[in-house]
Amino acid sequence: MDTQDLYQQIILDHHHNPVCHHPLEHHNHSIEGHNPLCGDRVTLFAHIKESHIQAASFQGAGCAICMASCSLPMQAIQNTSLQSSQTLVHTFFAMLNNKNYDHDMLGKIEALKGVNQFPARIKCATLAWHAWLALATNQTKIISTEAVNETN
Ligand code: ZN
Repeated sequence: MDTQDLYQQIILDHHHNPVCHHPLEHHNHSIEGHNPLCGDRVTLFAHIKESHIQAASFQGAGCAICMASCSLPMQAIQNTSLQSSQTLVHTFFAMLNNKNYDHDMLGKIEALKGVNQFPARIKCATLAWHAWLALATNQTKIISTEAVNETN
């Protein structure tokens, strides 16, 4: 199996069996993200205490890229500091923008690297993580990839 196939497999696995895909009962943060171009809609939940992520999860539905890009990093930010989750997101964005990034930090998340060949799908991959950055700074307003056109 070459790397491309392996990456494909990881994405499909996370699409069919997403990790942390459930509402979080005792959350103190939540935020919604919409990608109207593709129809992806996700809600992120987190229980954050003293800048430490006790637990995080997501709910929603979207394409395979969207679901895998929620599931893979979500697994990585459990029980970490808010700051390291933000660093992870910026590293993830750097990968998608073809910039230099810390490979070790991303690990399995690198399966999503191929998305940068499909500019129309980048929003599917970044939706949840723009929402996460907003959540991390205590914003509550719905995050949309098409903020200008979104009316609700
Ligand atoms: Zn999508």
